[in-house]
Amino acid sequence: MKKINKKDIGKVLHQWSQEFTVFVPSRENGVANLAKWDGKDTSFLDWYRNTVEPAKANFFPPMEKMFSFQKDKEGYHLELSLDEHKQIIFGIRPCDARAMAILDMTFTDSYEDPYYLSKRRNTVLIGLGCTNPYDSCFCTSLGISPAESTDVDLMLTDIGNQFLVEEITDVGKELMTRTNGVGEATQADEANAKKIKETAFGKVTRRIETKDIDKKLLSCFDNQDYWEEDAAKCISCGICTFHCPTCYCFDINDELVKKQGARFRNWDSCAFCIYTKMPMENPREEKWQRVRQKVCHKYEFHPMNFGTIACTGCGRCIRQCPVNWDITQTLDSLPAKA
Ligand code: SF4
Ligand code: SF4
Repeated sequence: MKKINKKDIGKVLHQWSQEFTVFVPSRENGVANLAKWDGKDTSFLDWYRNTVEPAKANFFPPMEKMFSFQKDKEGYHLELSLDEHKQIIFGIRPCDARAMAILDMTFTDSYEDPYYLSKRRNTVLIGLGCTNPYDSCFCTSLGISPAESTDVDLMLTDIGNQFLVEEITDVGKELMTRTNGVGEATQADEANAKKIKETAFGKVTRRIETKDIDKKLLSCFDNQDYWEEDAAKCISCGICTFHCPTCYCFDINDELVKKQGARFRNWDSCAFCIYTKMPMENPREEKWQRVRQKVCHKYEFHPMNFGTIACTGCGRCIRQCPVNWDITQTLDSLPAKA
């Protein structure tokens, strides 16, 4: 394992920024999100817990041009808008790195999505262990440790004045070989990191029972009374889905002026009453049906299709819901037996 002095992080980011667009946690108007590194500020190392918008936005942006088109005498001409620039995401938390692995399943399933994959294949993920989780976090119930990850290229653990660096992938290893200011970690560093990871694990105190959760959901799918009560306070704003790192619904629109235009896709949400109105009617007219869909997709349908729960316990849907709807309460109070 390697290590990097914390005071040298600015130099390391600067070096990487010669080759990559480097994204780091940043704060604008008090909101923490990933932003292009400004070339000097590393103060996020002191305040960063997690971003409001997950890293998925770097691969699947809220609005994205897919292609432009124009028509002439010979017909239509298309120009694809693939973003293939090389980027580093520095500081991704283990829950959000796992979410990227979950999104990969969708975007490479029966159709390989070129817009998502062009960015994904040109990105180096550098994880940073989380030592100060929110009380809304429950990642450990989903098999994720807040300070450990194999879903990244490099995994960093804060061990005081230094970061311990685990080289997870060949891409990460190769990046380390040409990064200045990297030293060899000692056994004492590794032992220190192990203790820090164990402490971080223990700080995630919110837990849910995931055993047989898909069967429980199936057995109470038709319990309208339960879902109506659960969804009563929801205002269908969609924040919980927009900011969920594993949600991926989108809508597609064309903008056309005379004989030229462009096709865009933008985030959509199964929480909206007008969801899928364009191609057909919304099959889930009632709010309780939409809340049920959100929960069942993550904990029942996704496991059925991909063998994995599509929730990482990042807690965003709890922290950011304007009416305090809480998915852990929903799952814990299911009136069902497995
Ligand atoms: S954030 Fe809360 S209010 Fe908004 S759709 Fe989700 S559960 Fe409903
Ligand atoms: S459902 Fe909620 S806790 Fe789970 S990944 Fe999405 S935002 Fe995070």
